[in-house]
Amino acid sequence: MSDPVPSTPNRATTGNRTPNSESRLALVRRARRIMRTLAAAYPDAHCELNFDDPLQLTVATILSAQCTDKRVNEVTPKLFARYPTAADYAGADRAELEELIRPTGFYRNKANSLMGLGAALVERHGGQVPSTLEELVRLPGIGRKTANVILGNAFDVPGLTVDTHFGRLVRRWGWTEAEDPVKIEKAVGELIPRKEWTMLSHRVIFHGRRVCHARRPACGACPLARDCPSYGHGPTDPATAAELVRGPEAERLLELAGLRGTDGEAAPSVTPEASAG
Ligand code: SF4
Repeated sequence: MSDPVPSTPNRATTGNRTPNSESRLALVRRARRIMRTLAAAYPDAHCELNFDDPLQLTVATILSAQCTDKRVNEVTPKLFARYPTAADYAGADRAELEELIRPTGFYRNKANSLMGLGAALVERHGGQVPSTLEELVRLPGIGRKTANVILGNAFDVPGLTVDTHFGRLVRRWGWTEAEDPVKIEKAVGELIPRKEWTMLSHRVIFHGRRVCHARRPACGACPLARDCPSYGHGPTDPATAAELVRGPEAERLLELAGLRGTDGEAAPSVTPEASAG
């Protein structure tokens, strides 16, 4: 049975729990508590790119480099209709393709990747997207991160997607100090069961986009506060922090953090100070 979801930040369990003083067992337990809290916070987390098949996901993921998923989703309906197969990308008219993907930025490089991808898929894989990491990373425009997105979301093969949000958050949680994505993937893979990797990736990225921002994380409104050694990195005042929470799950997140009653009313007695006794 899983631990209860931590509801409020607690001075007794935050700020003084540094990764260096923590045993390996305690770290594993804390990492898995964070995983369960994230599952409660984002039960429906998913890949935010729209796609219907592995080729579409691969194309969308390539376009998402240095671009928001929202912008990619605005571009892809027309693109997917115009280029339904790998062979269509291989034989694309460059100017037309560039024009279609221009809003996603770096469109010349991305057009190169898409045309190269189409050609490589036709030549090496019968026009199909392969389903192993080794084959995927040999394709134009596909690095390890993209390959893991494709494996996890198109083929149901567990994968850890180490993007900028993922790296920042797991370092804040003291799961690793590594900056290198491959080292981060290895460190997290040793803390979290393999079958959880894909959903964990979605949830960590959701949390990075909605609560644990790069510049001003919403610590005072964060359901992970009691398990996070970086609590205090952003504003801890509940009202200030609540303003920083983004996205459609904001009310549920504030409830989980103990800042809202179930009727949506503010719960003023629940603050770090109050809960610390
Ligand atoms: S918002 Fe603050 S408390 Fe929450 S995970 Fe990020 S650094 Fe930790």
